[in-house]
Amino acid sequence: MVLRRKLIAGNWKMNGLYADGMALAQELVGRITAAGPVGFDLLVCPPATLLYPVGQVLAGHPIALGGQDCHAAEKGAHTGDLSAPMLTDLGARYVIVGHSERRYDHGETDGDIAAKVAAAHAAGLVAVVCVGETLAQRESGAALTVVADQIAGSIPAGSTSHNLVVAYEPVWAIGTGRTAQVADVAEMHAHIRTVLAAKVPDPEKVQILYGGSVKPANAASLMAIADVDGALVGGASLVAGDFWAIAESCR
Ligand code: PEP
Repeated sequence: MVLRRKLIAGNWKMNGLYADGMALAQELVGRITAAGPVGFDLLVCPPATLLYPVGQVLAGHPIALGGQDCHAAEKGAHTGDLSAPMLTDLGARYVIVGHSERRYDHGETDGDIAAKVAAAHAAGLVAVVCVGETLAQRESGAALTVVADQIAGSIPAGSTSHNLVVAYEPVWAIGTGRTAQVADVAEMHAHIRTVLAAKVPDPEKVQILYGGSVKPANAASLMAIADVDGALVGGASLVAGDFWAIAESCR
C-alpha cells in the first residue's frame, strides 16, 4: 500500500490587501512553528499582489507558496497575465490550474489547461489541476464521465506524481456551503485514480485533493476517505484558525 502525505492547500482567490496577507501568513507560520513536525503538508496560494511578501514571511518555514494560475507562454505580450517562470522566480513551488472559476468565468478549455500545466512543469512547478462537475451534470448522472474527460484533456504528457496534484472540486460545492456526500467523494476519487492510470506512470502516488466548502466541522470525515489526500480550501483558508483546524484533522 502506498502512503500518500496529505496536502492542505489554501486558495485565497482575489482576497486580501497587504496587511491582511501578512497577518494571515504570520499566523500560519506561528501555528506551524508551535506545532513542530506535522504529518501533513501546507500550501498557500495568495493573489499575485501578495506572492512576494507572503513568500518572504513563509521563507524557511514548512509552508509552500503557490500561484493561482499561469499563462501557457514563458513570456511575451499577454497583458495582465503571469508566466510560470515568474512564479518560480518568486519562490512558488505550486500553481493551481483549471480552477472552475477560470474554466467557467474565463472560458478556459481542457486544451488551454493542458498547455498551462505543461508550462508549469517546464518551470519546475507542481500543477494542482482542478476538475469537477456542475450541478446539472451531477443530476443528469454525467459526473464521472465529465471528470474523466477533464482529466483526459487537461493533463499533458510528462505528468507524474512529482509534478501533478489533482483537486476534485464539484462546482456546486464551491463557496456554497454545500459539501458532497462522503460516498460520492469516495466514488469520484477512486474513479480519478483509475482514469489517471492512462496519464501518469504512478497513479497510486498522485495526491488527489477534495475541494468545496471544506471547513473544520466537515474536514475530518472528508479527510478520512480512502483516496482523499488532502483539501483545496477557499473561504476557510482566509481564517488562520479554520485553515489550521482543517489541517489538524489529518493528524
Ligand atoms: C475553491 O475555491 O477551491 C474552494 C474549494 O472554495 P470553498 O472552500 O470556499 O468552497
